[in-house]
Amino acid sequence: MTITAATQVLAVFGNPVKHSLSPQMHAGWIADHGIDATYIALEVHRDHALDTFRAMRRLGLTGANVTVPFKEKAKLAADICTEDVAALGVANTLVWRNGAIHAHNTDWGGTRAAIDEAVPDWIATARRAVLVGAGGAARAMAYGLMRRGGPDMIVVNRTREKADDVARFLKQYGPAEARDWSALPAAVAEADVIVNASTLGMKDAPAFDWPLERAKPHAIVFDAVYAKGGTALVNNARGRGLRAVDGLDMLVHQGAIAFDIWFGVKPDAGKAHARLDAIMAARP
Ligand code: NAP
Repeated sequence: MTITAATQVLAVFGNPVKHSLSPQMHAGWIADHGIDATYIALEVHRDHALDTFRAMRRLGLTGANVTVPFKEKAKLAADICTEDVAALGVANTLVWRNGAIHAHNTDWGGTRAAIDEAVPDWIATARRAVLVGAGGAARAMAYGLMRRGGPDMIVVNRTREKADDVARFLKQYGPAEARDWSALPAAVAEADVIVNASTLGMKDAPAFDWPLERAKPHAIVFDAVYAKGGTALVNNARGRGLRAVDGLDMLVHQGAIAFDIWFGVKPDAGKAHARLDAIMAARP
């Protein structure tokens, strides 16, 4: 692709951000659709995120994704927020249009699209879910699952107070309760959907023994985390014959929604998944 003065520029802002797969994911779709655009990763100084996002108005970026730890700042920088961003308090997608910054949250929609694709009839049998974690991803994933008749939510988090906060927030959308970390095995046994929205399973996170021996045979495991060769949670689930949705499924679906917001084109999530699998397999 030849970059010219007319090439649209998009970016992912984060810190750290060099591990992000978003540039390859969006570059693949940009090429698939013959769009004159480029997508780069920008590691923003932790004290200057707000200024950086506001500078989008002057720099004329087409749009951006925002990742850890700047999703709250992305909401603050925006002139116009969707209803979902207002509810969740965080944004992961920005678009610059007519001089204003618009903020979206595609994590919840990516969650919903990923599980809808992997297990199309999941909502018919999912009465109860257990959510592990209480950060931004946990809120967005639970919001995505609970909307339009989704399951009741049990929130379990290492820090109990944060689980209480998330459960309070989720009660707007359906029955939700927080439980202690020690109650996780019992909660797993009750759940039709088991969601990991914590950092457990990430490359440098401590090993964790998920109590999947307690899971119902039809339970669906949804891991926000992805790893080369699959996370221990997803591999354990599949090894037991449980259905599983992995973090790459969520990543490509949230990315596809963002791509549609920027360019008005629905890209092929499956194609991106295969490309990212290959990229991860080639990593050391
Ligand atoms: P966050 O706000 O930093 O929250 C981290 C969560 O992990 C907290 O609930 C924290 O518990 C918990 N945690 C951390 N270390 C733990 C440990 N040793 N044992 C038990 N719990 C632990 O992060 P986030 O933004 O919500 O992201 C959470 C995960 O989702 C990350 O792995 C991120 O990469 C992933 N994610 C994936 C996608 C995707 O598209 N696939 C999108 C967004 C996020 P405390 O409250 O006790 O600290």
